[in-house]
Amino acid sequence: MQFKITKSLIIYLSISTLTFQSYLFSDTTIKDIDDYGVISLMYHRFEENKYPSTNVKMRNFLEHIKIIEENNISFINPKKFEDELKNNKSQRKILLTIDDGFSSFYKNAWPILKEKKIPFILFVSTREVGVFNYMTWDQIREINKEDFVEIGNHSHTHEYLVDENSETIKADIEKSIAIFEKELGVNSNFFSYPFGEYSIEFKNIIKSLNFKYAFGQHSGVMDETKDFYELPRYPINEKYGELERFKSLMKTLPFKYKKIQPEEKYLLQNQNPPKVEIEFYDGIKNLKSLNCFSNEGDKWRQSKINFLNKNTLKIDINEKFIGERGRINCSLRDQSGFWRWLGVQFVVSDKQFKN
Ligand SMILES: [Zn+2]
Repeated sequence: MQFKITKSLIIYLSISTLTFQSYLFSDTTIKDIDDYGVISLMYHRFEENKYPSTNVKMRNFLEHIKIIEENNISFINPKKFEDELKNNKSQRKILLTIDDGFSSFYKNAWPILKEKKIPFILFVSTREVGVFNYMTWDQIREINKEDFVEIGNHSHTHEYLVDENSETIKADIEKSIAIFEKELGVNSNFFSYPFGEYSIEFKNIIKSLNFKYAFGQHSGVMDETKDFYELPRYPINEKYGELERFKSLMKTLPFKYKKIQPEEKYLLQNQNPPKVEIEFYDGIKNLKSLNCFSNEGDKWRQSKINFLNKNTLKIDINEKFIGERGRINCSLRDQSGFWRWLGVQFVVSDKQFKN
């Protein structure tokens, strides 16, 4: 019983760690942060309150903007993406992204972003453009006139492409590229994987089709050391857009790693649970006091961790990931009171071997 209570307390604290800590540390303790990275946020629907898992209420969205402005965090223009990552490290920065191109974005959020000239990437799936409840090409062209707007590619069909063979994936993306070229004159350098799901094969197709950057939906903060074809984003919805959590997200930092094993995030059943190792960069202070949590066995719990050497962490995932996605989140409190944050997302396949 004692064990149970302690364990649930630990889980409670770590899940609410971010919120908890934001009360304890104020801005006055900030020092020695060498690289703030870029926090990227992912929104979908605006004031479509029937869909809480992909929606944000407008009053909360306005609060988010206010929090960002009050903390002197700058919105980066996607057209200067790499320059901001590499050459503006001492500034706190946000990249705003909106997926799917719903009409509610155009109707509710766009007028505000336009007036404030807040830069963003709108990722659209070409098959859905003009369909009921989605923006039309005329509307997309209208917003694309602004130099602070990037229209990113989000595939053609938005199906679970990661489960398909490479010919099918490639044909889908090539079709979306052709439509981008026809409707906008050019394809984007930016891609967003449908459902944030990718495999090594999918990543390689995106590279081969000349995209420069691709976003998933695992949590974390971007920095110049990240793989540009698996960039993290924080999903914001009604549950995760809650204001205290949002303020805590604003105090996250890049967690710099050299490599995460397994490299393949598409998890076949004969590799589930995965053997996870993370090799960090040198010089991360108090690295050994990090904590990791996973949803193995469909239940969030603290993971057993071991350092194999100074910078290499082994995370013991003992039960199979169940359901569509397996997640691991690791965090480490920096002396500034900010949190280094690192999320890994696996796509859980029901197959033993990929077709
Ligand atoms: Zn999407």
